[in-house]
Amino acid sequence: MKYSKLFSKTLRQPPKEAETINHKLLTQAGFVDQLMAGVYSYLPLGLRVLNKIEQIVREEMDAVEGQEVLMPILHPKSIWETTGGWGKIDVLFKINSRTEKEYALGQSEEEVVTPLVMSRVNTYKDLPLSVYQIHWKFRDELRAKSGILRGREFYMKDMYSFHETQEDFLKYYETVKKSYLKIYEKLGLTAKVTEASGGSFSEKISYEFMVLTDAGEDDILYCSDCDFCVNVEIAKMKVGDPCPRCGGKLDQAKASEVGNVFDLGQKYGKDFNLSFLDREGKKSFPIMGCYGLGISRVMGVIVEKFNDEKGIIWPESVAPFKIHLIGLDQSEENIKSEAEKVYKQLQTEGIEVLFDDRVDVSAGEKFATADLVGIPYRIVISKKTEGKLEVKKRNEKTTEFMSLEDLLKLLAKS
Ligand code: ATP
Ligand code: MG
Repeated sequence: MKYSKLFSKTLRQPPKEAETINHKLLTQAGFVDQLMAGVYSYLPLGLRVLNKIEQIVREEMDAVEGQEVLMPILHPKSIWETTGGWGKIDVLFKINSRTEKEYALGQSEEEVVTPLVMSRVNTYKDLPLSVYQIHWKFRDELRAKSGILRGREFYMKDMYSFHETQEDFLKYYETVKKSYLKIYEKLGLTAKVTEASGGSFSEKISYEFMVLTDAGEDDILYCSDCDFCVNVEIAKMKVGDPCPRCGGKLDQAKASEVGNVFDLGQKYGKDFNLSFLDREGKKSFPIMGCYGLGISRVMGVIVEKFNDEKGIIWPESVAPFKIHLIGLDQSEENIKSEAEKVYKQLQTEGIEVLFDDRVDVSAGEKFATADLVGIPYRIVISKKTEGKLEVKKRNEKTTEFMSLEDLLKLLAKS
């Protein structure tokens, strides 16, 4: 993509109302644009990042045999009345129609997925199964001041699994927990898993996946010696207490919840009275699990974690482009055509390049743009580079001169 053509170029200043790093940097660098608190447009650069995160999540959900679907966001009131959500869920957006009917906007989709799946499940032989979607969610959140960490409209992966027995559910629960940790690792994040603290055995267990960041809205206690972690909100312990698992010391930190998994038990099957025939030929309600992962929030958390005073530093796995090619001295015909040539060659190699081909923009401004946007490799071509490429990684200080061939080798290794 040519930067000269990009309609969403960087801004001189972050917006005044931005309070968090992700809101400031993502807006200033041209990734998102706020329409109102908690509601954003994703611009070309931002959408590329969102798509990459989505694809990493999709591959892992496919690997645990999730079947991808796309369910409606606009729901009839009746399904939310069936489960009690209409009266109980305070974040549910409710819509009046001119026909005097009422609707809800999906804030989670158990109400849609349970009838959808269970109307096709007859006997235990049809189980287990698991379906997921990657779609927008709507919630009437009161505080939407953390940039894309908390949206009123946000992008989520939600998966739902259906099982014959609790045992089978627990096995799958563990599999998905592992796949979540793999996803965060691929995204360049370290997630801690909170445990439901010392509750009774009959309580349903849920796990939250937390990434430490001061922009987060959760407070967690975690052990510095083992992977024990608990949400302060529910915890019976406090900072400095011994770790209940290994005896180490508990530290406290701010964190953002980037995903969670729930044991839904038989609630939804029972609410909708949708059952299957078990091995004895008796009617049985499915044990369900639900598995959420906040894709747009993850994008914000990545920015909160990876930045410096100059801008964003994207991990390679989610960066909008791999290379930020800067053409300097573009008013000189031979330098311009050299830069164009390298741009085309990189594209032929299947490498994603953002090419700053602007003519009347200073070197300083182009470097500042590259630092703000945060693409992993910055490549400069100017009259001083004499047929070579000046290569610098966004997260390193040193530059190196190399041929295009050597650059391709370097990229193949990374
Ligand atoms: P939170 O406690 O942060 O409100 P939640 O417990 O309501 O989250 P879920 O309903 O399970 O979360 O949603 C699944 C995932 O979707 C969360 O783990 C989080 O990553 C993301 N998420 C939830 N609410 C929002 C929001 N308002 N904006 C962006 N992402 C969100
Ligand atoms: Mg919430």
